[in-house]
Amino acid sequence: MANLTYMGTRDASIRATASQAILRGICPDGGLYIPEVIPTMEKSLAELSKLSYQELAYEVLRLFLDFTEEELKACIDGAYDDKFDTIEIAPVVQKGDAFFLELFHGKTLAFKDMALSILPYFMKTAAKREGIEKEIVILTATSGDTGKAALEGFAGVEGTKIIVFFPEDGVSPVQKLQMTTQEGENTCVVGILGNFDDAQSAVKSIFTDKALAEELEKKGFLFSSANSINIGRLVPQIVYYFHAYLEAVKQGALKMGDELNFTVPTGNFGDILAGWYAMKMGLPVGHFVCASNDNKVLYDFFRTGTYDRNREFRVTVSPSMDILISSNLERLLSHIAGQDATKEDMEKLGKDGKYSVTITEKKISGEFATEEETYGAIKRFFEKTGYVMDTHTAVAYAAYQKYKEESKDTRPMVIVSTASPYKFTKDVMMALDKKYEQEDAFALMDVLEKISSVAIPEPIRGIEHRTILHKNVCDRDKIKDFVKGYLA
Ligand SMILES: *Cc1c(COP(=O)(O)O)cnc(C)c1O
Repeated sequence: MANLTYMGTRDASIRATASQAILRGICPDGGLYIPEVIPTMEKSLAELSKLSYQELAYEVLRLFLDFTEEELKACIDGAYDDKFDTIEIAPVVQKGDAFFLELFHGKTLAFKDMALSILPYFMKTAAKREGIEKEIVILTATSGDTGKAALEGFAGVEGTKIIVFFPEDGVSPVQKLQMTTQEGENTCVVGILGNFDDAQSAVKSIFTDKALAEELEKKGFLFSSANSINIGRLVPQIVYYFHAYLEAVKQGALKMGDELNFTVPTGNFGDILAGWYAMKMGLPVGHFVCASNDNKVLYDFFRTGTYDRNREFRVTVSPSMDILISSNLERLLSHIAGQDATKEDMEKLGKDGKYSVTITEKKISGEFATEEETYGAIKRFFEKTGYVMDTHTAVAYAAYQKYKEESKDTRPMVIVSTASPYKFTKDVMMALDKKYEQEDAFALMDVLEKISSVAIPEPIRGIEHRTILHKNVCDRDKIKDFVKGYLA
């Protein structure tokens, strides 16, 4: 059990245990929880390389959580079981000039399953440790993948309710059906007439609304978050960076101790931040490429030091990365520049929509891929290798090509593959051949199955025939009222 203390990104005097941070989701002042010190991995890489995914998860997670060995092992065993379609949990596949860390073998076919299959166990354990008997209400804003993964994780979990807000016109047909056909008495799914940033801002403002929190507390509810603003989401993501490294060594890509690079398709900056934590814990990482789509706020930030969200929001073929306010960047800033500077910058972001810093972290740089480059990457890579990437993975791959060209860096590269191509069948098929434009997204799954020799994943087979159970649509300004009404 770790005695690690968490503190606020904007105020170092805000303190919490891991359990408290997981239950609260966000600090009372709107900041996020970060570990006071980033722990060092205790076991050597050689020792870690003998472990299963679950055992490796234990070695990482125990350094961050205040759970007993028995509690933590129960969480891990409950999460990483045959819900995943391979015992490897996260296979590393060498194709062409890269290693693909496939994080989409869970039930919802996106990397969000890596964390959201364990978060409900964390919440229940944390609630028990803290002696909390209130019903936990999970509020989640989603750009498409978090919502379904959170619904899958929390559906039917006693003592919890989950409400998911997704951009009504900003997700893929499969993503939408995955959410609106969700079963479970305790689940609620709402389409927002707005984009992901609107949904995330509304949810964040609910968390910091003291009057509302008190009102609901009286009714026996406690709000928490399944978004990557919750530290319980981030910590499980550290595990697969170690796993990818050890696998790449096993596959002969590099010698133990040598440096490995990662390209991460990025939206809310949660995934890549987990990689940065892994590096700070001692994992030999050479470089991180932070890959963006046309919403390239982060690319501009890493080039210029100015974060500026004042720009048009673009709906792209990689919708899970359509984000202009990358919440977890705040954590990186706070670790590097401290709470006072971060508080000031976040106030500027709230007021002017921008702030500037001097970037001292040289191990992360930004690249981006346009829609055309994303399509081109899918097509060319398929023609060369027979491997079909989803649109998000393709953004990362295209970004890697640009990085390689500019940097001449020859260290091996892991592409963090965040979704199955079946989640974005239509765009993937159109990338391969424009002739599929007129065809139905669901009929195209059969075509994709034939050309990729990867079977249609069980969880979405026949999804177009399932009954739609959630039809709520809500204006972006009415999210708070909706929540109050739903819980009344
Ligand atoms: C969420 C998501 C991302 C972005 O991850 P962040 O942690 O938000 O940066 C990328 N790809 C897919 C498929 C996702 O679901």
